[in-house]
Amino acid sequence: MKAAPDDQLRLLDLQALDSALDRLAHRRRTLPEIEEIDALDRKVTQLGGDIVLVETEDSDLGREQSKLEADIDLVRTRMQRDQQRLDAGQVSSPRELENLQSEIESLKRRQSDLEDEELEIMEKREVVQTRLQELRDEREQTATTLSETEQRRDTAFAEIDADHDKTTQQRSELAGTLPDDLLALYEKVRDAHGGVGAARLYQRRCEGCRIELNATDIGRFRSAGPDAVLRCEECGRILVRTPDSGL
Ligand SMILES: [Zn+2]
Repeated sequence: MKAAPDDQLRLLDLQALDSALDRLAHRRRTLPEIEEIDALDRKVTQLGGDIVLVETEDSDLGREQSKLEADIDLVRTRMQRDQQRLDAGQVSSPRELENLQSEIESLKRRQSDLEDEELEIMEKREVVQTRLQELRDEREQTATTLSETEQRRDTAFAEIDADHDKTTQQRSELAGTLPDDLLALYEKVRDAHGGVGAARLYQRRCEGCRIELNATDIGRFRSAGPDAVLRCEECGRILVRTPDSGL
């Protein structure tokens, strides 16, 4: 293939723009915020699950506490009723009196046992509620960090996208000035060689694969006309000659 030396040189500019676009795409894909957001998102979900578990524990304890309070109320009511009967002097038989007093004693013990149980539950509940508050605080903090990180990601995306648009525009203008066959060859080689289709020949070295030319290639390249499109024997990329090529 033949192409004007100027067009060949502009191929290097096109390569620089394409490489810049590749770097922008890579930066967009590998932005550290993306992984951070993923981890924070998982943490918020995990904390949400933990919160539901602890809330359930708290409401179970709450039900137990209410049941104990109802039991305590029953015992109190019964005790009051017995005490009223006693105070009213309605009980005359000594045996009935003794029964009543012993019932009051046993109700007192029952009340005290139930109150101890309630206290124990209240202490457990306090621990559970403290834990619940800690989890809710942690979820809130994590959600805040998440939204700050999302904001940072979006700012970075906007910068990258603006850069990308600008570079794409330049690329398309430059590509429009190149002959179709040269451009097609460049695209084909670039696709096959990790995004680099054209490389500078610098001091007898291909800047695509970094391998130095052998004597045969040097001889061949020296005798080639300036409009011959050269290819690296090692990597197949288009080699562009400049005054620094060492030929
Ligand atoms: Zn090469």
